Amino acid sequence: MKYSTTLPVKALPSAEKYDGNGPAYKRRFHVMAKPTGSTCNLDCSYCFYLHKEELLHQDRHSGMSDEVLENFIRQYIDGQDGDQVVFSWQGGEPTLMGLEFFEKVVKFQKQYQKPGQRVENDLQTNGVLLNDKWAAFLKEHKFLVGLSIDGPRELHDRYRVTRSGKPTFDKVMTGVDALKRHDVPFNALVTVNRTNARFPLEVYRFVTRELGTTYVQFNPCVEPVDFKQTAPQFWRDDVIPVTGSRRAHPGDLDSIVTEWSVDPDDWGKFLIAVFEEWVNNDLGRVQVNLFETAVAQTMGLPAQICTHSEFCGKGLAIEKNGDIYSCDHYVYPEYQIGNIENTQLAHLAFSERQKAFGLGKRDTLPKYCKACPYLKMCWGECPKNRIVRAPDGEAGLNYLCPGIKAFFNYAEPILVGIATLVKRDFAGLKR
Ligand code: SF4
Ligand code: SF4
Repeated sequence: MKYSTTLPVKALPSAEKYDGNGPAYKRRFHVMAKPTGSTCNLDCSYCFYLHKEELLHQDRHSGMSDEVLENFIRQYIDGQDGDQVVFSWQGGEPTLMGLEFFEKVVKFQKQYQKPGQRVENDLQTNGVLLNDKWAAFLKEHKFLVGLSIDGPRELHDRYRVTRSGKPTFDKVMTGVDALKRHDVPFNALVTVNRTNARFPLEVYRFVTRELGTTYVQFNPCVEPVDFKQTAPQFWRDDVIPVTGSRRAHPGDLDSIVTEWSVDPDDWGKFLIAVFEEWVNNDLGRVQVNLFETAVAQTMGLPAQICTHSEFCGKGLAIEKNGDIYSCDHYVYPEYQIGNIENTQLAHLAFSERQKAFGLGKRDTLPKYCKACPYLKMCWGECPKNRIVRAPDGEAGLNYLCPGIKAFFNYAEPILVGIATLVKRDFAGLKR
């Protein structure tokens, strides 16, 4: 993490294409593309990206140029050896680039695609601009849509508002109708904040029943009060509170997090309530990112999401000017590792510095985590959330720890049961 930023960005041997007889998947990495930078048509209170305009001195009126786009697509495809390359378009709000931009995306992808290779696209959107034209395009080119929605109207409109403070729920639902008319597959991305965390079943039932999604991602909203300017791991040491203390909760005058951040205890209660509902009614029908990963880990398989993996480092971010950052959540000058105009993307992805960033997730864990019974399920969660001290005073503990522990404490025996059933099903299928 922090120490990784002092290392040179030197390409490792794995950045080079391997033409020997070794395993086929040698170079694989993922890049989150931000073609509009931080520019968005909404002004969600908790957005961690809007302020990047100021921080990175971005020009709000221009998006990713054709030159940067083509360069990115060429290098991203060229830098990987797998038979599948996944492009993820995020923001800001990527649909602000207009359909013409995405027509160019598809054109360049076809131009540089290697024989036998599958190129796929994900689009993460607030849904406000989606209409029949967009939906027809997304369907034709098989884009998978991730829709940001925080629950039913009252909960969604609490923080997801326009630049003039107006609610957005109806606009999003108009976009959802267009997706449904064109049969475009979409997932729900729910930011779990201080308010909707207290209504777990209302949120979960809304996205899975009313919206009809069968894949749900829950992202806890954790924002240090100084997140706009201060990069993760560059916090002032003397202001870090101990987990569970007054300042390690939102709502306190001296809290280290914004008032809309999820409370760590509520995060645990939210997960437990949704998990119970999922196990009782939706197992095998609905996929919930955190639960799928927990089941996989219980079966001895790797985590499917970075936050619960042992290492980070395989998911970089590209800004509209071609600057590359270690991770989407680390778009701060301290974590910029290069620009694709000067250095090949694969060289940045497989560089000494990016490797150190990835290993840092495990190597900077506090003793408290190393002794935790749930270490191999949690791995200290996302390093950007390690903003409190452990009970013994060591810094670097995850803010969400009390909630994560409560969840695993409740869910562990049930996860073992589910893993046994899944293994038995697999064994039955093989016979
Ligand atoms: S820093 Fe957080 S979001 Fe980024 S790769 Fe690591 S765990 Fe994932
Ligand atoms: S539950 Fe808490 S102590 Fe255990 S690994 Fe996660 S963050 Fe560390």
